Amino acid sequence: MGGSAGTISKVIVRIDTDAGIYGLGEAENFMGVREALQLLRNCLIGRSPLTVRPFFSEMIYGTLPPYPAGGAAPGHPGYCSPTATTSGPIIWGLSGVEMALCDLAGKILRTPTYNLFGGTYREKVRIYLDRSAPEDVTNLDAWRDMAIKTVEAGFTQLKFDIDFAAPDAVEDPWSRRLVRPHLNRVIERITAVRECLGWDVELAADCHMHFNVSDAIQLVQELAPLKLMWIEDPVPITNPDACREVREKSTIPICVGEMFTAEIARIFIDQKACDIIHPDVLFTGGLHETRRIADYAELHYMPLALHNNGGCLATIAAGHVAAATRNFTGMEYHFIETDWIGSYVRREGLPFLKDGHLPLSDAPGLGVELNEEVCRKNLAPGEKLF
Ligand SMILES: [Mg+2]
Repeated sequence: MGGSAGTISKVIVRIDTDAGIYGLGEAENFMGVREALQLLRNCLIGRSPLTVRPFFSEMIYGTLPPYPAGGAAPGHPGYCSPTATTSGPIIWGLSGVEMALCDLAGKILRTPTYNLFGGTYREKVRIYLDRSAPEDVTNLDAWRDMAIKTVEAGFTQLKFDIDFAAPDAVEDPWSRRLVRPHLNRVIERITAVRECLGWDVELAADCHMHFNVSDAIQLVQELAPLKLMWIEDPVPITNPDACREVREKSTIPICVGEMFTAEIARIFIDQKACDIIHPDVLFTGGLHETRRIADYAELHYMPLALHNNGGCLATIAAGHVAAATRNFTGMEYHFIETDWIGSYVRREGLPFLKDGHLPLSDAPGLGVELNEEVCRKNLAPGEKLF
């Protein structure tokens, strides 16, 4: 992924109504997601498609008696969610279901989904392209070539991966160390990118939660002259104190949040453990939860970037959040070399991406329809399309 070969698979969610309208969502094909989708399906049948947040809330937290009109869903105990957790398969499955409900709600109300969040601040959504690293990391020209080609394709924000930048210099992959030769190779390679791009292109770097606090501090300080847009997940993100320690010693903004729910994001923001919050609609529980994070960050005058490892449907859905978010700064995309993942849904008269941006549609809901030809052609073995 991100410029190198890999296998990608996605789960498409479709919610049908008795009025003949349906909504589309995307979920990550993670362990347990299909089971979660089955449970969510059982709980959703017979509900109004417009009770998006109550449904989310019931699935994650449950309700107190007396139960909402219609009673608890069949197979649901009512007072407490059978999942009662804000992480794992249920929230990943729920993220796809909530996305489909947001599509459905917009179609029922005949307005783009971003209008359900208060309307759009912008006409197009900036994409930052995740490039990871070139195949031959030892070849500085390959780094330069990758960077230049990305900018020539119209992108003005790029991200590379620190942890993939110098596997040739890793001494002990378990130790969380950036030993001096490793750190030197990382600095040389990211510097080569910055030097060829000049200073106007926004450049970020991701550490994927690998490093210890002291080495992460050394990294951010040695990268400081390159004026990066952010350093992402420099240390494991299970400890806001560790993240804050790095942040306090860094002039580069620290960006975290790709697996966070709203409650975890609140802790990191409250504890001043990050400069930029970076949630993902596929992991927060969906569009509304991502909007909650966005507004909480905005109250702290903190920018929001959108992590996104999704295909075109999740990217377009996240674009509706970005459109309606004042403090939005950029949304990730990976798969420009993989045609099907950018084309399994389509929008009437609109390209998926244009000039480094996601254009917005004013069609109802998410404004997409399934490209059945692409879907059928790329079905995983043994799968069928609805
Ligand atoms: Mg990341």
